[in-house]
Amino acid sequence: MDSGEWNVFHADGTANHDATTDESRYTTPLPWDHINTGIDRTWLLDDLKRALEAATVPDCAYEGCSHCGICSPDFGHNIVVPPPPVPEFKGHFMPKTDRVQRFRVWFGKTGDMALTGHLDLVRLFDRIMRRASIPVSFTGGFHPNPRIAPANALPLGYTSSGEIVEFELAKPMEIATFEARLKEHFPPEMPVYRVEEVPLQSPSVTQCLSEAVYELTIATDLEPIDWSGWCDRILTETEIMGQRTNKKVRFVRLICAIDCLS
Ligand code: SF4
Repeated sequence: MDSGEWNVFHADGTANHDATTDESRYTTPLPWDHINTGIDRTWLLDDLKRALEAATVPDCAYEGCSHCGICSPDFGHNIVVPPPPVPEFKGHFMPKTDRVQRFRVWFGKTGDMALTGHLDLVRLFDRIMRRASIPVSFTGGFHPNPRIAPANALPLGYTSSGEIVEFELAKPMEIATFEARLKEHFPPEMPVYRVEEVPLQSPSVTQCLSEAVYELTIATDLEPIDWSGWCDRILTETEIMGQRTNKKVRFVRLICAIDCLS
């Protein structure tokens, strides 16, 4: 017997029928003994024996009463409440998939937002669209997703002053209204720098991305290094392998450049 329960199983999980004849096994308090549920301990033991014998206890809502103790004068009588009618099925909600307008937004990711990963950032955009009541367009199919396209994923831990994201809308909006709602709902550490409307048929921002500029701040205890020669060597490498052993390196993406602005 384990503490606080009636254990009638062998170690291999099979039922120990002999256990039910040893009444001393049922003197251990049950976890809910301090609560008056109205159910008698003797009835619980009988029910346990019936369960071990795989006997079916009739549902007292429809058949005979097994006298568990619930329907005593203190607890009233068993009342069967009829279920409410099943509402008529009106079809699954389908978000709007029309594409009528596209906005390209330049924004920053500063401060603690560096610790927000790319997938969480995409979820953040989705929630901003809902909070700001911006009618974003969705893809079709079984798993509709909002048409929100960041130009590039910023690695976790990087801050940036040059992020770009595109939103496609299902209903047209004034660009000033769109920008004002974005600025109202973006976190303070994600400043909105610029918003432009771009034609729907133009290449997406992910196709336009051509380069990114990074700034590295490195704290080192090493002897003075020939940084110029180091940079030249890095720029001629085709592959750079590295291992970060501490947190004294800070990366900042300064800008994402795109070569087709419209
Ligand atoms: S009718 Fe009441 S007392 Fe009888 S088994 Fe059902 S709940 Fe228990």
